[in-house]
Amino acid sequence: MIVVTGATGKLGTFVVEGLINQVPVEQIAVVARDAAKAARFGELGVEVRVADYNDPASLTDAFREGDKVLLISGSEVGQRVPQHKAVIDAAKNAGVALLAYTSVLGGPAADFELAREHQITERYLIDSGLPYTLLRNGWYHENYTEGLPGVLAAGAITTSTTEGAAVASASRADYAAAAVAVLTGVGHEGREYELDGDTAWTFDEFAAEVAKQSGTDFTVNRISGEELRGILGGQGVPETIAPILVGVDEAISRGLLVNGSGDLSRLAGRPTTPVSEAIAKGLKA
Ligand code: NDP
Repeated sequence: MIVVTGATGKLGTFVVEGLINQVPVEQIAVVARDAAKAARFGELGVEVRVADYNDPASLTDAFREGDKVLLISGSEVGQRVPQHKAVIDAAKNAGVALLAYTSVLGGPAADFELAREHQITERYLIDSGLPYTLLRNGWYHENYTEGLPGVLAAGAITTSTTEGAAVASASRADYAAAAVAVLTGVGHEGREYELDGDTAWTFDEFAAEVAKQSGTDFTVNRISGEELRGILGGQGVPETIAPILVGVDEAISRGLLVNGSGDLSRLAGRPTTPVSEAIAKGLKA
């Protein structure tokens, strides 16, 4: 079986849809903490296994010998190391054939706080002795294009990145296609893929594209990390998370969200989605 955790999330949904297009549905299972959310997959014939990353006992029956597993990293920053370790332990006990993990672009080289849990997970997975694949995902276009109508109304995209800083983002659908290729293909064991978009964009280019497509004035509001931290705090972002997000902008300024390996389009078998397409979609939402 091919087993996808985090399947009820946005990336996971694309992965399951991609799998359904490529393999018989009887060969696909999802692991979800909320059975009701996964029911839509069950109705299509996908096996639903209920388990929570926070509950190791629930994970004991989530995997079977010979499964190929995609561990989609958890969404609760700060909780993810024990969560991912619990999944890896359960997969090892079950004797799965492969565990692919959605990590962070750069892996050990990604020396910013948000990447730390991924680095620890990578190490734990490698040391577990399980056959593994590291899908080191770069940034989603959607980090910048979801909620774009609201940002457009503000007239500018706010960033603490430095001028000229670039992001080689890609759409969630692109990263999902790469994951599907690994889960359905052969020869991916022990591989570490650096996955990012074919074309990097700067915030000025992003703003110009938004202005062009919307026919509205739209610019970049460049602020300091300290100012960004204050704004995030004002928006209710927890004190523990705001500096982590500021750290992401610092990482972008240091060029860490651009890799240029071409692994993503190679695995997906097509060029990655241009950011202009994601902007168009975001503006329509
Ligand atoms: P989502 O938040 O849409 O999906 C997260 C998935 O993880 C959901 O299915 C969620 O289940 C599941 N999950 C979370 N906690 C647990 C738990 N304790 N036990 C079982 N399942 C759990 O995120 P995306 O799909 O957009 O992204 C996938 C992952 O990629 C994120 O979780 C995060 O680690 C990372 N990410 C990457 C970004 C990037 O730009 N590369 C940006 C943002 C996140 P449920 O549906 O029940 O909530």
